[in-house]
Amino acid sequence: MSTSSAPRTRVVVDVNPADTTDVLGEVHQATAADVEPAVARAKGAFEKWRDVPAPERGRVLGRAAAITRARADELARLLTREEGKTLADARGEIIRGAVLFEWFAGEGFRMGGRTRPSEMPSTLLFSLRQPLGVVAVITPWNFPWAEPVWKAGPAIVAGNAVILKPATLTPLLAQRCADILREAGLPDGVLQVLPGSGADVGDALVDHPDVRAISFTGSSAVGGDVYARAARRIAKVTCEMGGKNAVVVMPDADLDVAAAGIASGTFGSTGQRCTATSLCVAHRDIVKGLTERIVAHAKKLRIGNGLESGIDLGPLVDAHQLSSVLGYIEGARREGLQLATGGRRVSDGACERGFFVEPTVFIDVPPSARIAQEEVFGPVLAMIQVGSLDEALAVTNGVRYGLSSSIYASDASAIMRFIDRVEVGMVHVNSPTVGGEAQIPFGGIKWSGVGGREMAEEGLEFFTELKSVFFDYTGRARDSKIY
Ligand code: NAD
Repeated sequence: MSTSSAPRTRVVVDVNPADTTDVLGEVHQATAADVEPAVARAKGAFEKWRDVPAPERGRVLGRAAAITRARADELARLLTREEGKTLADARGEIIRGAVLFEWFAGEGFRMGGRTRPSEMPSTLLFSLRQPLGVVAVITPWNFPWAEPVWKAGPAIVAGNAVILKPATLTPLLAQRCADILREAGLPDGVLQVLPGSGADVGDALVDHPDVRAISFTGSSAVGGDVYARAARRIAKVTCEMGGKNAVVVMPDADLDVAAAGIASGTFGSTGQRCTATSLCVAHRDIVKGLTERIVAHAKKLRIGNGLESGIDLGPLVDAHQLSSVLGYIEGARREGLQLATGGRRVSDGACERGFFVEPTVFIDVPPSARIAQEEVFGPVLAMIQVGSLDEALAVTNGVRYGLSSSIYASDASAIMRFIDRVEVGMVHVNSPTVGGEAQIPFGGIKWSGVGGREMAEEGLEFFTELKSVFFDYTGRARDSKIY
């Protein structure tokens, strides 16, 4: 990951992963050399932006939300062409971004510290939330619109200047985010987009001494490296990373509801969500009926270009991701695991120029199998049988990730025990593992997250520092009684 060995590609051709002859454009790539001037510009912009009252900063996001809603269809089309998810999923992501803008717009009124009674007479004791300065935001390709919004939004309303490095595969949506914010009144230099490779631009941002904080989302491998390098220069850092999200199904669950939720959590957005379901940990008394129902859902899914109506499952994002997912499937077969459905690339007819794979279900998977432990990031489900809730908890907690999980059950005490003991940042009950809401913290533990949550008040807090103030308003000299 060293800067010196990084390729200096200046242009990347942005193509639709459902049809690689559909070219969205050529995107000029920044390099490490562009980071220094960007940081200098951001420092200048920060000095002015921090003085804009926070409610006014929030209003910029409010206007960006309105513009986003008005252009949701156009933005969704671009998102589908750039990342591949279906138009319905893309529209959902665009609207999620608008809601996040709306939430963080309101934070302009709420952000602040607190007052506490002082031990000293005539003393006002309070804390202030202040911006950090120049911050870097590094985003993945799978939520090319919502990720830039949910990181840049709080950073901006808190009064920082932001340098956003989007994933190399999906720079256009990030650029749209910046364009909309500028149209909404964001001054020049407060948000700069630097498209470029992680090893080049990403490294340079993480290592820059004037970048006060790094908010990273991506794989655990890269996130671990970002975390370590930021720590070396004592920079603030948050890393939201991969997941291996399990759904537990108990015998008293409604199997139709569970199967529908598991299918949508596994195959929705082609499994390319950090919160996607990839393990189903089912009680052995109901595993057969549950499997039949999930397989029936999988077989009904229509695979193709997400721009077309009636399509349920779009492509994987690129050739690399396709070969990675097919590699996991092939590896599972070599391990002797049994397929209930799927398992092949789809390349006939309209799918011949894209990166499609069938919705895939493996059954009787041992918890130690590779597809039961590693993040596949494709429409692949591993089904594991257990005999009790505690066994289900052991399997669910036996992966190194800790992002999201779900339980389908009726017994309240079993559900509460699961909520209490499962090692994740987000738990769902009788609903799929996916998704988040602007007003509640989002993120994981263990290999899935470190350094603080995103969204909600916590998402804003990361982009601020607290300053405690001891204000003796008599102005007369006296001894401090505080030790
Ligand atoms: P990735 O780790 O390959 O890349 C993420 C970002 O980091 C990209 O912008 C990339 O260019 C940049 N990067 C790469 N090397 C870098 C370096 N040395 N220094 C700094 N930046 C560098 O991840 P991806 O393939 O784009 O995204 C998929 C991953 O993201 C999955 O693991 C998924 O689970 C995870 N993800 C997590 C969340 C979450 O909130 N937990 C949300 C979405 C995606």
